[in-house]
Amino acid sequence: MSAVPSSPPVWDVIVIGGGPAGSTAATMLAKSGKRVLVLEKSKFPRFHIGESLLPYNRRIFEELGVWEKVSTAGFMVKRGAQFWMGDGSRHNRLDFSKGSFTDYPESIQVERATFDKILLDHSREAGAEVREECTVQRHVVEDAGVSVSYRNAAGEETTERASFLMDASGLGNLTANHASLRDYYSGHKKIAIYNHFTAVDMPQDGEKGDIIIVRRENSWFWLIPLDDQRTSVGLVMDKEDFQSLARKPDEVFHDAVKTSKAVADRFNNARSTMPMQVAVDFSYKNQALVSPRVVRVGDASGFIDPIFSSGVMLAMSSGREGARVVNEALQKNQAMTPAMRSYEKRTWKNVGIYWEFIENFYKLHFAQIFFQPVNKYRMVCAINSVLAGRTDLTLAIRWRLRVFFFLAWLNQYIPVAQRIRIG
Ligand SMILES: Cc1cc2nc3c(=O)[nH]c(=O)nc-3n(C[C@H](O)[C@H](O)[C@H](O)COP(=O)(O)OP(=O)(O)OC[C@H]3O[C@@H](n4cnc5c(N)ncnc54)[C@H](O)[C@@H]3O)c2cc1C
Repeated sequence: MSAVPSSPPVWDVIVIGGGPAGSTAATMLAKSGKRVLVLEKSKFPRFHIGESLLPYNRRIFEELGVWEKVSTAGFMVKRGAQFWMGDGSRHNRLDFSKGSFTDYPESIQVERATFDKILLDHSREAGAEVREECTVQRHVVEDAGVSVSYRNAAGEETTERASFLMDASGLGNLTANHASLRDYYSGHKKIAIYNHFTAVDMPQDGEKGDIIIVRRENSWFWLIPLDDQRTSVGLVMDKEDFQSLARKPDEVFHDAVKTSKAVADRFNNARSTMPMQVAVDFSYKNQALVSPRVVRVGDASGFIDPIFSSGVMLAMSSGREGARVVNEALQKNQAMTPAMRSYEKRTWKNVGIYWEFIENFYKLHFAQIFFQPVNKYRMVCAINSVLAGRTDLTLAIRWRLRVFFFLAWLNQYIPVAQRIRIG
């Protein structure tokens, strides 16, 4: 830590990044009367991947006071999630309205450019100052505050001071990268190849708006309807497998479409709307989420995998929880508090709930049970609630999940479910 500067910080909190985590934190803090500065690298609206939301997101929208704006923006309503086998031979559908432990029956699929702008504009209205096209270069933690230096669109560098810094820089992972805190999940190095397509043949009527997940042997697709014309489609696979193919992302993607009947049948007239996009190395965990005067939220705390669409929900809940502990630390005038440590533990616990599903989804014995669901003892209802975004798991949910994961584990040795080919 450097010497104490003479002037007190101008801002209570500087938030790096105006995505869902940053805007959630900024709105919460501004609503409680804090002086908040958000520094965002891009000019919104900007493209971002991560378009399928979970029903429990609604709780946070309501808390932020932004639900009215989100629900009237014309986003596609999502009532269910369909999990298909690549060869199209079977599928199951999770209907959020049919989960006896699920409080919210539906969610939305969003074009992130529009969605993220609604949230960020809402932070402004709540009283936060938002500066776009301002890229944070570095930060210095001092005894009485944090100095944050950024460069604006004209290339001019400015330094601002705050009592606290919240890092919501997404996969940019700014402060944790500077401190070398990033750990990758072993055996989980993935690549995602994606685009928006027109004329994909998506479910209609009662299943309109469903996300479709297609499980192939060693990879999977998402198909997310954004509106009546456009569908977001992505392929996720091991980075190593991709590299061994020695082909361009576009070729790998279209080859996988052709060889997955469940996708090919929907792609007869599909046309891409932009150059193919690629994301790599997005699964990681930071060794620490808090340190004196610094709290990391959203993807800047870590990200696992997009398969169960938990990213935005987890980002927004950590933004909300992070803001809560920063608020308390400001009131106590302390740089580090026990509540900040509890925030770190809670965030990891929430991520852990999804990690168990994600890690297992890639395993054959689990997939065999997952694709042949039996709602005995309402186990499917318990799964429904977690995949709807519920993280406050009651005992009734927890024991059902434990039985389910035990059966999936047992299925390696004794056939609990019929042996079916996955892919
Ligand atoms: C392939 C893929 C598919 C996904 N699909 C889904 C899905 O279907 N559903 C879902 O819920 N989630 C999905 N996710 C996850 C989701 O995209 C993220 O979890 C979510 O966007 C995290 O929000 P955030 O606010 O933490 O970060 P972001 O939304 O990434 O926002 C971070 C912001 O910080 C800004 N920033 C970065 N560096 C700086 C800097 N130095 N200075 C200033 N600003 C900076 C960026 O410009 C950005 O606007 C997916 C992720 C991937 C990789």
